[in-house]
Amino acid sequence: MSKTIYIVGLGLIGASMALGIKRDHPDYEILGYNRSKPSRDIALERGMIDRATDDFASFAPLADIIILTLPIKQTIAFIQELASLGLKEGVLISDAGSTKSAIVNAAEENFVGKSVRFIGGHPMAGSHKTGAASADVNLFENAYYIFTPSSLTTSDTLEEMKSLLSGLHACFIEIDAEEHDKVTSQVSHFPHILASGLMEQTALYAREHELAGRFAAGGFRDMTRIAESEPGMWTSILLSNRETIIERIEDFKGRLDEISQAIRDEDESQIWNFFNQAREQRQAMEIHKRGGVDSSYDLFVDIPDEEDVILRILELLRGTSLVNIHINEENREDIHGILQISFKNAQDLERAEHVITENTDYTVVIK
Ligand code: NAD
Repeated sequence: MSKTIYIVGLGLIGASMALGIKRDHPDYEILGYNRSKPSRDIALERGMIDRATDDFASFAPLADIIILTLPIKQTIAFIQELASLGLKEGVLISDAGSTKSAIVNAAEENFVGKSVRFIGGHPMAGSHKTGAASADVNLFENAYYIFTPSSLTTSDTLEEMKSLLSGLHACFIEIDAEEHDKVTSQVSHFPHILASGLMEQTALYAREHELAGRFAAGGFRDMTRIAESEPGMWTSILLSNRETIIERIEDFKGRLDEISQAIRDEDESQIWNFFNQAREQRQAMEIHKRGGVDSSYDLFVDIPDEEDVILRILELLRGTSLVNIHINEENREDIHGILQISFKNAQDLERAEHVITENTDYTVVIK
């Protein structure tokens, strides 16, 4: 049976989602809201949606399913507005916000007693790009897509969402909204604070120690990559998950104090343990095999500085979904190989490792 889907916010996430829905449900009608014209036009021209509006309320009564793909604050504002509109009986509403408790609470508060089903959603994929022009049908492939049920989630809600979003090829998983916010505060939100703090500290230091900028390489680059994220999105993430994040910051301050004291005391074994425990814990978590936040599957190849070597490797990898290729100019101890190739999934990474080791003498490292 055909359905009418309303995507509210044709940014990177909303437009990519529309493409994914179209892939498996070409017969569904997709309506799109966007406040600015360029993303509306792009979404229409590229067939992501069938009809577009800049008047949010006008399409809402037509929809069987509404997905709010907007900044968190705006998602909450539109939930409030939806509560005052005449929607279809049993309409299913979801969202894509990066924090979940504030949104789920707003939905429960505003839709209570109404014929509305609500389930929170968080597709754990994205990039620093914004707008419909950056939409990518494969954006969510193999990424976790988290659903956070609410008191307005009925027994059929989750299955209906999974069926709608099957074309995203994501890994669907269901967790409690509060638990979602706790876990993501530790592995996503707090690391962003650290990356930006480290970046600011270094930039300031480099004003007086010019070499700091020049020597910043491998490890520093790994640690600060996410400091280039979109500031507006991260501001709203921190402000909608305040207590949990503040708790992580306080916990970390204690860890810094401990290592600082150990250095002051020249406590060699404590310092050794600090590094050793972290190394063992990271190895045990098998970070590189995971499809979590910002996941990438990296392979490092030590290649000689010879003509056509990179072309040869790429030729070997023909048909493999590599997402990025990087040549590390400096050969340093904290870089595992000169050529860094990133893949979308673990199977392609393993295949690439196998093909390169079989056909060349180059050292291959997976990190
Ligand atoms: P985007 O900037 O590409 O798109 C945001 C959309 O919201 C645009 O359509 C914009 O026009 C609209 N918008 C912004 N402010 C508005 C306002 N005041 N009124 C009406 N419309 C407004 O951002 P995105 O990456 O698509 O993010 C959308 C949501 O998805 C956010 O809640 C974000 O937390 C979440 N999310 C993003 C990522 C990511 O990495 N980009 C990953 C997972 C979840």
